[in-house]
Amino acid sequence: MLRSALPALAVLLSAAAAAQVPTPEAFLGYALGERFTPHHRVVDYVEAVGDASPLVTVERYGETPEGRPLLLAVVAESPAVAEAARQSSVAAARGEGEPTKAVVWLSYNVHGDEAVSTEAAMQTLYDLTQDPARLADVVVVLDPCLNPDGRDRYVSGYRQRRGALPNADPDAREHDQPWPGGRFNHYLFDLNRDWAWGTQPETRARLAAYNRWLPAVHVDFHEQGVESPYYFAPAAEPFHPRITPWQRELQTRIGRANAEVFDREGWLYFTKEEFDLFYPAYGDTWPTFNGAIGMTYEQGGSGRAGLAIRTAEGDTLTLRDRIDHHVATGLTTVATTARDAAEVRRQFAAYFQAAPAGAQTYVAQGDPGRLGALAALLDLQGIAYGWATDQTVSGVRYGGGLDRPAEAGRVAVQAGALVVAADQPKGRLAAVLFEPEAVLGDSVTYDATAWALPYVYGVEGVAATGPVATGGPAPPAATVPSGRPYAYVAGWSSPADAQLLARLLREGVGVRIVPEPFEAGGRTFGRGALVVTRAGNARLGDRFDAVVRAAAQATGRPLTALASGFATSGPDLGSNRVGFVRRPSVAVLADTPVSPTALGEVWHWFDAVVEYPAALLTADDVSAATLVDVDVLVMPDGSYGSWLSSDRADMLRSWIRAGGRLIAMERAVSSIARLDGFDAAVRDAPEADTTAAAALRPYAERERRGASESVPGAVYRVALDPTHPLAFGYPDWTYILKRRVAPVDFLTDGWNVGVVRSGVPAAGFAGVQARERLEDSLVFGVEDVGRGEVVYLADSPLFRGFWADGQLLFANAVFGMEAW
Ligand SMILES: [Zn+2]
Repeated sequence: MLRSALPALAVLLSAAAAAQVPTPEAFLGYALGERFTPHHRVVDYVEAVGDASPLVTVERYGETPEGRPLLLAVVAESPAVAEAARQSSVAAARGEGEPTKAVVWLSYNVHGDEAVSTEAAMQTLYDLTQDPARLADVVVVLDPCLNPDGRDRYVSGYRQRRGALPNADPDAREHDQPWPGGRFNHYLFDLNRDWAWGTQPETRARLAAYNRWLPAVHVDFHEQGVESPYYFAPAAEPFHPRITPWQRELQTRIGRANAEVFDREGWLYFTKEEFDLFYPAYGDTWPTFNGAIGMTYEQGGSGRAGLAIRTAEGDTLTLRDRIDHHVATGLTTVATTARDAAEVRRQFAAYFQAAPAGAQTYVAQGDPGRLGALAALLDLQGIAYGWATDQTVSGVRYGGGLDRPAEAGRVAVQAGALVVAADQPKGRLAAVLFEPEAVLGDSVTYDATAWALPYVYGVEGVAATGPVATGGPAPPAATVPSGRPYAYVAGWSSPADAQLLARLLREGVGVRIVPEPFEAGGRTFGRGALVVTRAGNARLGDRFDAVVRAAAQATGRPLTALASGFATSGPDLGSNRVGFVRRPSVAVLADTPVSPTALGEVWHWFDAVVEYPAALLTADDVSAATLVDVDVLVMPDGSYGSWLSSDRADMLRSWIRAGGRLIAMERAVSSIARLDGFDAAVRDAPEADTTAAAALRPYAERERRGASESVPGAVYRVALDPTHPLAFGYPDWTYILKRRVAPVDFLTDGWNVGVVRSGVPAAGFAGVQARERLEDSLVFGVEDVGRGEVVYLADSPLFRGFWADGQLLFANAVFGMEAW
C-alpha cells in the first residue's frame, strides 16, 4: 500500500536485478511484523540478499563482545559504482573534487530494544533491490543492526515473556523488560553516546567503516515512548553552532518529504522538538560534524511495544505499523537525496573546502602519558595531529587547572605538545571536540553541554589564532630495561599507568607505592610512583624480571631500573612510609537497583580497560557471607533507597569496620550519606521562594525554571589534595562532568580530597540556582570507619567510559589506598 502510493518511488521492476532476491517472508518463513527476528537470522537474510542481488555487497566489519557479526550492506547500481562513490567521497573530504554519487548511510537498532529498526532494515534492503532506478544518483550503505547483543537480549526475552498470541494490554508482562533491558550493549553502554569517544568495540569498528566511506546523509533509526507517534528532522534547538546552513536546509527538505508521505497516509508525526543537535557523541551529531546531514528518526514503541500494544487513545500499535513507518522514512530519505543529488554532492564537497570558524589550531600540553591517550582517540577519529616545538602563540588557555578559560593573550607552547590544525578533513569534528566552549543557543538540552578534550584528559588546552609549528618530539616510546636491577619504577600520572598496576597485581606481583616525590637513579618521580622490588616478591623466583617486563610491554608503560634502594631525596624504597599493595579482591554491585550504564562504566573499566577481575554481585543477594572475602566493594550509581534497609546498612557498616573499603558513586553517596554513622551529609534543598513574583510565574516558563535548577552536564574544576593517596598522580586539580545537583557537604571527620569551590562551571551550562547550591561541595572524599573506609565519589570519574582523567583516581580508590 505504502510503496505503490509513492509516485517518486514508483516500483519499476527490473527483472534482471530483482529476480532471485528472496523477500524477507520467503526467506524467514513469516511475514515481517509477525515476530521479532533473532540477529543470526538477520545476518543470514542480509547475506542471502548479498548473494542473490548484483546490486548488493555485504561486508562484516566487526564483531560484538558476545561474538555477533556487525554487517554493512552496500546497495548501488554495481559494486564498481559503489567503490567509485566511496573513493570520491573520501577524496572530497581531502578537498579533491565531488563524490560521484550521494552516499546515504542508514543505521538501525543502536538501542537494542528499539527492535522495529532491524525488521524495517530488512524490508528497506529488499525494496532497494527491487528498483535499480532509485540508485541512479545514490549509493546506500545500510547497517541493519548496530547493537546485536542488546537486540538479541530484548528479542529473546520478549519471546520468553509472550504467549501464543500477543497481548496488547500495556500492563501485560510482555511489555516490561527485566533489568538491564535491551537498550545497551554487552557492557551496558549506550552506544548512541559513544560515537565521539569509541570506548566500545562496536563503535570502534563502525568508526573505521564510516571513515572509509564518509556518507553525505546519515540516518539513525530509533524508537521513543509508545504514546509519541513519530519524530523526524528538522531537529530541535539547540543546534550546535558549527552545523552549517546547508545541513539545516537539507534536513528540513527531507523532513518535508517525510511529512508529505505521513500526511498522505494519515500518520501522526512531530518535528523540531525534543531531539536536539548538540552533544557530539550521537548518531545524528557525530555524522553532522563529519560532513553528513545527520538525522534521528524515532518511531513510537521501543522496548514496551512488543508485537502489539494499546495506546492511551485506544488504538493498537502493531509491529507492522512501526515497520511501515521506518521503511517509509528510509526510502523517502533515499529518494529525496537522489532528487537533490547534484546539490548534495556539491555541498558535501564544499563542507570540507572552508576551514571551520574560530581557532586555527588547538594545542594540548601536559603529561606525555595523558597526551598519548589523547592521541589514541584522535587516531581512532581520523583527526591528524603533530607535536609542537617550543614557541609562543596567541590564543586562549583553558583547562590545565584554570577555573574558566583565560583572556586571550600570548601563551607558551612547550616542545612535545600535541597540535591539531582546524584546517584538515576532520577539522570541524576536531574543533567541536577541542574548542573551550560551544555556544549553547538554548539551555534546555537533552545531554551534556561541555566535553572539550583538554578537560577530559587533564591537560592544558590552547585555542590558537594562528598556526603552531610542529616537528617537536612525540612522547617517547616505552623502553623496558634489561638485566636484574634492584627495583623497577614506573610513574603514576596517566590512565595507562593504572593498566600497568592492575596487570602487575593480577600477575601476583606485590607493588610499593611511594607517597612523596622522590629522586633515585638520577630521576625524579611524583607521588604515587610504583616501585617493584625483588624483595617482597620472592615467590615469583626467577620469573620476577620477565613478569614485570611483560606487564610493562603489554601496557606500553616505561619502566626505570634502579640499582639501589637509596633515594637522593624523598623516602628510600625500604622506608616504612612506602606502602605495599597486593592483589585486592574486588566486587561490584549489579542488577536492581543499580543503574545499568553506571554499572557498565565500572564493569567495562575492570574487564576491558585494566583487565582486572571484579566479581559482579547481584545486589539483592549481598550479605555478610558474600562479602567475607571481598576487600573492595563498589556501589555504582543507583536508586538505593529501599535496598539500604537498616539490616543491610548494619551489615555494610560491620563489613567496613572489619577492614572493607566501600566505594560509593553518585547517588550511592547520597544514600550512604542519609544513614546514621557516616560522616557524609547531603545538603538540604533551598527554602521555597515564597515571593509574589515566584508565585505568579507563567505556566509557559516551567521548562526554563527547571533549567535554572539543573546541571544537564557541565565541566567543573575540582580542587584536589594531591597529598592524599586518592589523588596521587594528579596536580592540585582535575575536572569532572557534573550531571546532577545533589551537593554533599564537606566531611567534618574525613578527608575532603576533591571539592568544588566555585559553583560556576569551567565549561557548559549550569542554572543560576544550581550554581549557588554547588558552591563549596564535596566531590571526592574518604572517611575512615573502624579498620576500613568509605570512598565517596559524588560524580563518576569514569563518566561514559571516556572521561580519561578520572581513571587514575578510580584506580587509586580501588588499588592504591590498600597501602595506607
Ligand atoms: Zn533510541
